[in-house]
Amino acid sequence: MKPAPFRYEKPRSLEQALTLLAAEGEEAKVLAGGQSLVPLMNFRLARPAVLVDINGLAELSHLRRDGSRLRIGALTRHAVLEESPLVERHWPLLTEAVRLVGHPQIRNAGTVGGSLAHADPTAELPVALAALDATFVVRSLSGVREMQWSEFFVGQLQTSLEPDELLVEAVVPALPPGTGCRFDEFSRRHGDFALAGCAVTVSLGPGGVCARTSIALLGAAPTPIRATRAEAELVGRPVTAESAARSAAHAVQDLHPTSDLHASGGYRRGLIESLVARSLLTARDRAREGAPS
Ligand SMILES: Cc1cc2nc3c(=O)[nH]c(=O)nc-3n(C[C@H](O)[C@H](O)[C@H](O)COP(=O)(O)OP(=O)(O)OC[C@H]3O[C@@H](n4cnc5c(N)ncnc54)[C@H](O)[C@@H]3O)c2cc1C
Repeated sequence: MKPAPFRYEKPRSLEQALTLLAAEGEEAKVLAGGQSLVPLMNFRLARPAVLVDINGLAELSHLRRDGSRLRIGALTRHAVLEESPLVERHWPLLTEAVRLVGHPQIRNAGTVGGSLAHADPTAELPVALAALDATFVVRSLSGVREMQWSEFFVGQLQTSLEPDELLVEAVVPALPPGTGCRFDEFSRRHGDFALAGCAVTVSLGPGGVCARTSIALLGAAPTPIRATRAEAELVGRPVTAESAARSAAHAVQDLHPTSDLHASGGYRRGLIESLVARSLLTARDRAREGAPS
């Protein structure tokens, strides 16, 4: 199918883009890589009256270290994140996650901001950024808002972005020394959206016990979620096959993933439990081998 008719605008500055969004309100949609929005428009599941194409806004394409933090501009392509030596060295969880996004063609066009704003519960980057405690910076004509990842994602394909707001960047704190990470997922075919997955970090303290961990889940709920009880349970203990299995069991205890054509909720729950147990051990081994600096 073809999209319903729309007006096309390509602002030349962030100010112009924000002015358009403020003027058009609910009628407008931001166009980034188009990898999710254009199919939705072709199926007429989205019918924006105005498309605001932000691809001319070079100021949103940055990927840089700022002190100990990483700043990822909303227009950064998945492929740029994937190929960044800076990211691979200091935030390897993001490299591992982005390599699982679709196919190279999708990663050449798709953007980090688009993936976050689309808020698909089976998308990799929202879950990886949840594990990394990222914050998101949002702009409108009335100013700047910075929010935790958990305030940004509010439901399946829903964020707390207002119609006049543009996501401008994600800010990722440094991982503590002695941290290992793992992103793992299961999909039926290479490049398909995953049925379930997880992003895990393990920071080892003195004596090799777990000093800090984050366990973020994919496909478990309408938004990315953290298994906070399972995290707390592991802190202060050595990460062994037994403790990892116990944490994984806690992680899925109160989960009710949805059933659909692709998998039942029970199957997804079992997948998540196995993936978390395995990922905690891999993250522990990577922490022992040498952590991001
Ligand atoms: C065949 C195929 C396979 C795919 N497989 C995967 C996969 O395995 N994993 C995965 O995570 N994704 C997958 N995707 C989706 C892909 O990653 C998209 O790139 C991503 O979801 C959206 O990014 P985009 O830049 O293309 O955004 P667009 O499609 O341009 O926009 C998506 C939504 O975000 C809004 N938006 C975009 N940028 C901003 C911004 N800066 N501020 C506010 N709102 C904004 C748009 O208005 C729209 O509502 C797949 C896509 C295809 C076509």
